[in-house]
Amino acid sequence: MRAGPSQDEIRRQNLGALLRLVHLRGAMSRAELTTRLGLNRSTIGALTADLTSAGLVTERAPRETGRAGRPSLVVSPSSERAYAYAISIEVDQLRAARVGLGGVVLDRRRAARPPGRTGVAAVQPVAGFVAEMHAAATGGTRCIGSGVAVGGRVRAAEGAIELSAGAAELDAPLRAALGAALRDDRPVTVAAAADLAALAEHARGVAAGCDTVLYLHGDAGITAGVIAGGRRVTGAGGYGGEVGHMVVRPGGRRCSCGSAGCWETEIGEHALLRAAGGRGGAGRPAVLALVDAASRGDAAAQLAVRQVGDWLGFGVANLVNIFNPEMVIFGGMLREIYLAAAASVRSRLRLMVLPGWRGRLRLRTPALGDDAALIGAAELAFERLLADPLDAGAA
Ligand SMILES: [Zn+2]
Repeated sequence: MRAGPSQDEIRRQNLGALLRLVHLRGAMSRAELTTRLGLNRSTIGALTADLTSAGLVTERAPRETGRAGRPSLVVSPSSERAYAYAISIEVDQLRAARVGLGGVVLDRRRAARPPGRTGVAAVQPVAGFVAEMHAAATGGTRCIGSGVAVGGRVRAAEGAIELSAGAAELDAPLRAALGAALRDDRPVTVAAAADLAALAEHARGVAAGCDTVLYLHGDAGITAGVIAGGRRVTGAGGYGGEVGHMVVRPGGRRCSCGSAGCWETEIGEHALLRAAGGRGGAGRPAVLALVDAASRGDAAAQLAVRQVGDWLGFGVANLVNIFNPEMVIFGGMLREIYLAAAASVRSRLRLMVLPGWRGRLRLRTPALGDDAALIGAAELAFERLLADPLDAGAA
């Protein structure tokens, strides 16, 4: 029979729980921490003292409350002192940020993605961003590690979208390049962009408080991040969430993956532009222009938005019947398509989602906007620290 947790294990768990709370919910009084964590006042005092001396939280007297008695000190995350690097490798751009504990973006960089047929071409530019930001960070600060969000696609020279190296293949090159940029071997964790966007929205965005969430990301392709029972569902090989390759139209158009009739051949960027009569341009600007034309009464654009909205609802209904999420979030260019085509999406859901859940599903757009995957990459880096603050935070 296993003995119960030791005093030390309990203390580490409590330190993690306290740090997680102020990291995700912001500054909080000792009194509120006492209530939320179900611990007594002297324990909260000891835990905040440990986290303060580790440089992870600060305490200050609250503003005048007007109430009698000794006021409860307010505990805040030390955003300036403890931070992570977050990197987002996207179809059309590369982004990097220095993100402080508490989710505060302290510094950021962005560039267009260099043309190239593989994701590996993006590694050196993002490592360069990290080296720049690291040189600009002031003394007395501490890097916890790096998290990287990888979108799986590459825009080839002719404008077609290809499947490229995913998160698993970029893991080793990113570790090497970031290790060199930071002159250190701080942990680097790599994951798919939609997974990390789901993580961020679940932790501190529109889905905070939801246990089961589906985040759909649209750029050149369509991917999903799934949170079920509060945990990310990523699959065995990192290929989970490739919902864009769910076949919705047997015998349909050929897809970049080699199959035919995949969902993204009906709702992706190319499908939308094709449905409106083959308009020029590519990427988010072309999608925005088309949605804008529809809102101004362009009949062909309106038809395209309705048609794509119907196919969007078709796939979402299938996913809802499989995962039974409390919320579906439409991110990337699916945000614009959903907002323009919500009526078509909803009418398809009314036909296809099982009756018991139909009226209870919530459809939303990301609270963190286009930063969702970037913030999720930082959350991934912070996970180790939050699991054991004094161990991971040491050095
Ligand atoms: Zn496909």
